[in-house]
Amino acid sequence: MKKILAFLVCPLLAFAQTEQDPVKEKAARIHAKALVIDTHADVPINMMKDGFDVALEHDYEKDGTQIDFPRMEKGGMDGMFFAVYMGQGRRTAVANAEAKTKALAIFDKIHEAVRLHPDVAGIAISSKDAYRLQKQGKRAVFFGMENGWPIGNDLNNLKMYYDQGLRYVTLSHSANNDICDSSTDPDGPEHNGLSVFGEEVVKEMNRLGIMVDISHVSDSTFYDVIRLTKAPVIASHSSCRALCDVPRNMTDDMIKTLAGNGGVIQINFVPSFVKKPAQDQELSMKAIRLKMRQTDLSEADKKELAAELKANSKKYEKDLPTVADAVNHIEHVIKLTSVDHVGIGMDLDGGGRVQGLNDVSEVRTITEELVRRGYSEKDITKIWGGNIMRVLNAAEKAAQTK
Ligand SMILES: [Zn+2]
Repeated sequence: MKKILAFLVCPLLAFAQTEQDPVKEKAARIHAKALVIDTHADVPINMMKDGFDVALEHDYEKDGTQIDFPRMEKGGMDGMFFAVYMGQGRRTAVANAEAKTKALAIFDKIHEAVRLHPDVAGIAISSKDAYRLQKQGKRAVFFGMENGWPIGNDLNNLKMYYDQGLRYVTLSHSANNDICDSSTDPDGPEHNGLSVFGEEVVKEMNRLGIMVDISHVSDSTFYDVIRLTKAPVIASHSSCRALCDVPRNMTDDMIKTLAGNGGVIQINFVPSFVKKPAQDQELSMKAIRLKMRQTDLSEADKKELAAELKANSKKYEKDLPTVADAVNHIEHVIKLTSVDHVGIGMDLDGGGRVQGLNDVSEVRTITEELVRRGYSEKDITKIWGGNIMRVLNAAEKAAQTK
């Protein structure tokens, strides 16, 4: 009644009331309907800490965390690949066994969190699970493993992790391992791509239906994987080197090759992969990250370094890339290939953050930016979850066809 009255009095006012922001309204509608999936969530790092409960809502401003079930729900984030992450350590039999024990402890922790909250979340191992959980209004928890180090030198471990729910492995992290070369090992290449064992790892992943993740690996590892794989592969959290020239990002040729293989690149929101930082900022960040990579750090050391990192990013806050900068990477992939080969893997809780997106509760801003640029509901649905689910299905199918 009031609206009608306002319309009679002042048509413009009525328009303002009902059509507050058409972009936001349209984006909210599309976002609510689409299956929204992010392929790289480092929340298990927090889950392994005493006192962090993934079922409780946290505040980014207070503790710097970016993911929990309530904030996923707030952001309309239907599912995430929780990363069983392990920074590369020594490659001895003893260290490999320790890595395996730690990896299994992370799997246990994630399974436990979901078991404790069956009304809020469920484990997903297939696209069917994800769509079912979306319908039930629950968060889908997928498993990815960042760094193949816990595979050690034993292919049987892959089947064991698969049975735990694992559906992708990032072959390496920041350093070379027994599987392949990393894009960022300070000592340069060691195998010139995949090792002989790495080839067996890719074949076994294909056989089981675990997606091969080529984020972090060197360019030559990428091309070796593409030559060998029987299923489409993913980059779970990588951006475009043409827009931000760092070895961790993919070249245009790699992106086109990935698309030719039927795979998908999931855009990473780590600021230094979205937009090249000023040199002084880059150097100070590098110095801190290098210190953080030491394996013999005490809890006090770790806390101190985390504080140092936080102070440093505060200093450069105004230079932080925006959601639009990150969406430029999505658009770049679409222009190079098509809308079928790009998705989102923000690396939240692992360094991902842009202006306007502090945590997972704010991901609608990405959808808004896509709507603003004229992308259709169909396109956005592919970007948010359709593409990655297609690739997961393809990996499953390839495993079944011998
Ligand atoms: Zn990573």
